[in-house]
Amino acid sequence: GGDPYSDLSKGVLRCRTVEDVLTPLEDCFMLDASAVLDFGVLASIMQSGYTRIPVYEEERSNIVDMLYLKDLAFVDPEDCTPLSTITRFYNHPLHFVFNDTKLDAVLEEFKRGKSHLAIVQRVNNEGEGDPFYEVLGLVTLEDVIEEIIKSE
Ligand code: ATP
Ligand code: ATP
Repeated sequence: GGDPYSDLSKGVLRCRTVEDVLTPLEDCFMLDASAVLDFGVLASIMQSGYTRIPVYEEERSNIVDMLYLKDLAFVDPEDCTPLSTITRFYNHPLHFVFNDTKLDAVLEEFKRGKSHLAIVQRVNNEGEGDPFYEVLGLVTLEDVIEEIIKSE
């Protein structure tokens, strides 16, 4: 009772995984941790239209922080503030999910948690070396809701 989803949507959420709906890493708008928030960088953030922006160090697969658009409210482009000053101040937690997590489980996570974005990783045990976590992309509440809408 009190469940807003149709049987079809529930089936979709139970069967499909975050890997089916994620935004691949190469398509993600992200910032280098060493960036300076000058006019050009601030303009590119505004132009991207995204509310949550992963921040990486050295490689795009190495996400170390999240920048929220609202963190920029008091940033003056004239000051050329280092991005790290802002990320250190807000220090938003990162949320990770595994690639094989079902959409119903990640939806529950999003409902419970404070953030509506998670970084998708998988265990890579191909090749000779030790297994390692590999970042595949991002998943947001919107990606899950889109699957529900498509199934209605
Ligand atoms: P909001 O709607 O809360 O303002 P948003 O528009 O930034 O946030 P979402 O609505 O959560 O983003 O997601 C819309 C789509 O954009 C989803 O497919 C999501 O995976 C993708 N997305 C979210 N953030 C980024 C990003 N930084 N780079 C690329 N794609 C992103
Ligand atoms: P985000 O999570 O994308 O940063 P947000 O935290 O501002 O966005 P939502 O996640 O969209 O807001 O909504 C969280 C809850 O806060 C919802 O219940 C929504 O109705 C409520 N809410 C959002 N904006 C306002 C507002 N200006 N005044 C009161 N309640 C709001």
